[in-house]
Amino acid sequence: MSGKFSFRKLSSIKIKIFILLILFSIIPLVVLRYGILVNFVNHEVEMKKIEIMSQSKLLATQISSAGFLDDPTSEIINTQLSQLSNYYGGRVMLVDRSYTIIKDTYQMDEGKVITSKEVVRSFGGEVVSYYDPEYLFIGLTLPINDQETSTPYGVLIVNVSSESIMEDKDYYAAQADLILIIVAIVDFCLAILFSQILVYPMVRLRRMLNERRHGIIDEEIHVSGNYETEALCEEINGVFKNMKTLDESRQEFVSNVSHELKTPITSMKVLADSLLADENTPAELYREFMQDIAEEIDRESQIINDLLSLVKMDKQNPELNIKQVNINELLEVILRRIKPIAEKADVDLILESFRPVTADIDEVKMSLAISNLVENAVKYNKEGGYVKVTLNADHQYFYLNVEDNGMGIPEDSLDHVFERFYRVDKSHSREIGGTGLGLAITKGSIVMHKGAIKVASTLGEGTTFSVRVPLIYIA
Ligand code: ADP
Repeated sequence: MSGKFSFRKLSSIKIKIFILLILFSIIPLVVLRYGILVNFVNHEVEMKKIEIMSQSKLLATQISSAGFLDDPTSEIINTQLSQLSNYYGGRVMLVDRSYTIIKDTYQMDEGKVITSKEVVRSFGGEVVSYYDPEYLFIGLTLPINDQETSTPYGVLIVNVSSESIMEDKDYYAAQADLILIIVAIVDFCLAILFSQILVYPMVRLRRMLNERRHGIIDEEIHVSGNYETEALCEEINGVFKNMKTLDESRQEFVSNVSHELKTPITSMKVLADSLLADENTPAELYREFMQDIAEEIDRESQIINDLLSLVKMDKQNPELNIKQVNINELLEVILRRIKPIAEKADVDLILESFRPVTADIDEVKMSLAISNLVENAVKYNKEGGYVKVTLNADHQYFYLNVEDNGMGIPEDSLDHVFERFYRVDKSHSREIGGTGLGLAITKGSIVMHKGAIKVASTLGEGTTFSVRVPLIYIA
């Protein structure tokens, strides 16, 4: 927010708006000024041509009827020629049929022969007019017709200066320039003002973000004035909210981890202390306590293993060792491993496979995910219950269902079972060796494979976890 100049600032929206405003207001005015002045000159020249032409035509008729070309002594015609010349501050010449100038109001070229193309054209009967912007004059040649034959037998040349038109043009140009300068100054001020006004919400937004970053303010950010900045604020508030939730869940995770890791240690400490307190502890009790301590150590290492698995899944760029794996065989291996536990719990394990499936997966991580689901289905089952694993596929995905008719999950817990350390019944889960991390690990693994997992359950009736994983892994 420093006031120092930097080249980066040249790309600022404020400067762009400022330049655009100036360009869009000044350029049209300059074009307008130029266009109007050019049109003005053209129009004035045309008007003057018409005016001179009508006067000249009249004179040509009079010259003809007075027979002035054959006898250039008529005072009236001489006066009229001089008047025309004086009135327009120009030169009038009269050319006879031998192309000789018989009258020149400037009295410079009398007796000379003139064969300019305009004169030749007028001897052909044409009225010719032209404008010379370099020497600033309007020229006009018109035929003088023989009264009897009606054919040209002389030409009247009228050259008139257009300087007065240019003087008018210069006057208007000066006026226009003055207006242009005034408009440019006003525009400049307005452009500064508008660019400031338009960019102000962004400046405020930046200031608020800066204050928020440095902890000066903690509330939601609201900057009104522009739809865009309002929408941007909403998005930023959304990001802050996500960050806050993330931070809270991280804190909760750390406190949960500490708690979970502390519990077995506390138990071990109690067991060890009670053994140490009594020197004459019977060997049997000693053994029993040591067994409990060994169980707590197992539990501690189970939690640590689960945490390590979870951390691996949580990585931003997970390392997946993708290979083509036969999913039917993978399921058979998993179920074979869990079978003894299921038998011990008197739970039937059923595998139903609709077709042979091979897919691009990380065998270790997928195996961990599926094992967790099947183990849970056995753990949270009832005597004489079943766990049915079904496998199906289409051209895009394979579908895995793990269904049990065990204790089920209460409806209000369904949204939370994938959260880390979440357990429906904490003491029951602990009893059967749960850490509350299994489903979080499973979900992490499935998501890493770009798949999806969902759960459906009815309390007391059973639970079904449905998994969908793409057959081909696209990184
Ligand atoms: P745990 O290590 O406690 O099993 P999980 O993350 O694997 O942790 O599961 C979270 C909780 O979800 C479990 O504590 C249990 O209450 C519930 N749960 C998971 N699977 C089932 C299931 N098949 N039937 C009933 N409840 C289940």
